Amino acid sequence: MARPTEVVIDSAAARHNLAEVRQRAPDSHVLAVIKANGYGHGLLPMARAFDAADAFGVACLEEAGALRDAGVTKPILLLEGPFEAAELADIAELELDVAIHTAEQVVMLESLPKSLPGRIWLKVDTGMHRLGFPPETVPGIFARLLQCVAHPEDLILMTHFANANDGEHDLNRVQLDRFEALQRQLGIESGRHPRSAANSGATCSLIEAHYEWLRPGIMLYGISPQQGGQGPREGLIPVMTLRSRLISVRRIRAGETVGYGGVWRCPEDMPVGVVALGYGDGYPRSASGAPVLVNGVRTQVIGVPSMDMVTVDLRPVPEAAVGDPVTFWGPALPVEQVAAAAGTIAYELLSGMRDRARYVYVNE
Ligand SMILES: *Cc1c(COP(=O)(O)O)cnc(C)c1O
Repeated sequence: MARPTEVVIDSAAARHNLAEVRQRAPDSHVLAVIKANGYGHGLLPMARAFDAADAFGVACLEEAGALRDAGVTKPILLLEGPFEAAELADIAELELDVAIHTAEQVVMLESLPKSLPGRIWLKVDTGMHRLGFPPETVPGIFARLLQCVAHPEDLILMTHFANANDGEHDLNRVQLDRFEALQRQLGIESGRHPRSAANSGATCSLIEAHYEWLRPGIMLYGISPQQGGQGPREGLIPVMTLRSRLISVRRIRAGETVGYGGVWRCPEDMPVGVVALGYGDGYPRSASGAPVLVNGVRTQVIGVPSMDMVTVDLRPVPEAAVGDPVTFWGPALPVEQVAAAAGTIAYELLSGMRDRARYVYVNE
């Protein structure tokens, strides 16, 4: 058999999750975020799966260009805008939307002979302190950018929450209050210029932040945006299943260690399985102790994952044999549980998947 490592992507689950977003925010437009190779699911397949979205969000011109080359005609937003002036010709040609967050980018736009055909998303830093203009500088920037768009409604006011994965966090309210105060100052609270604030977390837990445009990412892939949450418990269906097969089953003696560094010591004579999947595929090296399903039975990773292989405890499945299926995450084993065991978040696990594993698309 060929190496059995597979990433199965279920487009029907993706469509279901987009419908869930619509249901939670029926009055807002949805910009589906498909940056980083569609959070590791594949850029073009995810653009097709989210065909019912109103726009797409990506991180760079290369991602946007691939979408346009594939015939995507919807609006596409570059979430970090141009990285250099040399990109503006392509941005205009591809009719992309741009987020604008620095004075340098404003100068780039002002130096163009005519306005960009796409929209400008003016990014305000309301408290995340990553990208964006401080609110007190926004009225001046807003007036300048208004000269850079063809129609006033092509200038969108945007911000981003730092803690939307915790609906109770105080900073959400602080950020929202600053964003609303700014809208009043600009005289746009009625929505004359579209507004956008909500990622997945705010889509689920901050209804006041829905505004005209949502920007969900992670929940579209079936992952809970809430700290401690799990997609399937919240009506979402995980889109990605990571699976492989046992390539070796052996009994190891009590007291012997398994794998590099001898991190796992067998507490008794026990069956140990080796699965064809490793950190070279994107499975985290820190996943010692993470749950896995062997023949659908829950057990755990033992020892440290290596580049091509992972060892698993077969005591709960003593009849397991070479060739049996092993699931590392998917609808039956939410990736949030694996992320917690590996000391990371689902975003990192999904977007870290490499196409070394075979991608299989179903229900397209
Ligand atoms: C990535 C990103 C999103 C999507 O966030 P999720 O938490 O995945 O929903 C939204 N807005 C911006 C600006 C982003 O960079």
